[in-house]
Amino acid sequence: MSVVIDTECCIVGGGPAGMMAGYLFARAGVKTLVLEKHGDFLRDFRGDTVHPSTLEIMYELGLAEGLLKRPHQKIERLGGNFGDTHLRIGDFTRIKAHYPFIVLMPQWDFLDFLSDEAKKLPSFSLAMNTEATGLIEENGRVVGVRAKGPEGEIGIRAKLTIGADGRHSTVREASGLKVLDIGAPIDVFWFRVDRDPNQGEDVLFNAAAGRIVVTINRGDYWQCAYVIAKDEAPKIRAAGLDAFRRSVIDAVPWLAPHIDQIASFDDVKLLTVTVDRLEKWSRPGLVMIGDSAHAMSPVGGIGINLAIQDAVAAANLLAGRLASGTLTDADLERVRVRRLWPTRIIQFVQVQAHRLILTPLLKDKERAPKPPLPIRIISAIPWLQRRFASWVGLGVRPEHVHSPRA
Ligand SMILES: Cc1cc2nc3c(=O)[nH]c(=O)nc-3n(C[C@H](O)[C@H](O)[C@H](O)COP(=O)(O)OP(=O)(O)OC[C@H]3O[C@@H](n4cnc5c(N)ncnc54)[C@H](O)[C@@H]3O)c2cc1C
Repeated sequence: MSVVIDTECCIVGGGPAGMMAGYLFARAGVKTLVLEKHGDFLRDFRGDTVHPSTLEIMYELGLAEGLLKRPHQKIERLGGNFGDTHLRIGDFTRIKAHYPFIVLMPQWDFLDFLSDEAKKLPSFSLAMNTEATGLIEENGRVVGVRAKGPEGEIGIRAKLTIGADGRHSTVREASGLKVLDIGAPIDVFWFRVDRDPNQGEDVLFNAAAGRIVVTINRGDYWQCAYVIAKDEAPKIRAAGLDAFRRSVIDAVPWLAPHIDQIASFDDVKLLTVTVDRLEKWSRPGLVMIGDSAHAMSPVGGIGINLAIQDAVAAANLLAGRLASGTLTDADLERVRVRRLWPTRIIQFVQVQAHRLILTPLLKDKERAPKPPLPIRIISAIPWLQRRFASWVGLGVRPEHVHSPRA
């Protein structure tokens, strides 16, 4: 290792968790370095849903209006089509939030915005094209990270290392922290198809016999999620593109005019759905947040927002102490104690949604689907539609920014 950099906080991963943590630790006056293995934030679709909980955080940081100047769409209501039956299942308009709607914004725009704001802070640095390859340990304590950057191998020594490198985390692997695999019976194909002006509604859950397609209105195109049973992807690819396109338009006939835009299976990205979480989220000198601590199902579009909540909680609990030199290893465990409960509840609900809604709908390939009982109950009671929206939008145990500003 020819170059060794000293910092107070080294964050691995410039996703939602890492960039928000980077911003907040630097804002508290902690010398912070974020490592991101890619050269920019522009990469495959990774979800675009910025929930009211995240907008609330941005509001508290004085960043919400700036963010909302970037191109985006708003979702105020969620609906579902089950065969010919249309049901309303979520109403965000009356939830208690400064911004009672979901913002749809490409994740790279959100991350670009956050990194532009973070770069204004003197304690913040971002190293792009820099991939963490392992941890530096001394006497059982993590004291930094080994990485490969544009100039070759480097070492970063830090008082605190934060693992925020997503669900295939190198830091998690290197740390030896144990993973509890909860499992998921579904995978998801993602693709996009052009949208004609004024076509369709905001976000729709579309179920036809044996298939489910979620359509998200992104202005001039539809972002679509085609839900499949776990490991069914090779079978679907083997049946050919025409069969896939037909299956999509069976569930969502109004996608038909542009369905030929799916020109090959290269246009259809597979998300292998994983639901897991670490048993412990920290070791001396190291704490894990976001997907690297708990991979979530895409149900509810919660992953980005939960990652940001973790970052806020970590900064609330650790940034001030790190800045004042009073941080202890025992403090690191407090992040898990704070965030485990919301993570468990959300994962529990996602597992029930897999079990009670998605799996039965996917299994019955013969009949037009009936709306599952939980959906019928929600759609019959407007109060429940608001509660559902509030749960999805604000989450469980919403965090607020309490970390200091230097
Ligand atoms: C196809 C798809 C669709 C999704 N849809 C949604 C959605 O609609 N709504 C939603 O809320 N969530 C969605 N998610 C989940 C969401 O993307 C994640 O939950 C969220 O991004 C987690 O944030 P994170 O910061 O913890 O991790 P990530 O976003 O995974 O960020 C980790 C970052 O670390 C970097 N990195 C990885 N390894 C290293 C390394 N060794 N060194 C340096 N950098 C490294 C990565 O390049 C990445 O930038 C989707 C995910 C996928 C894959």
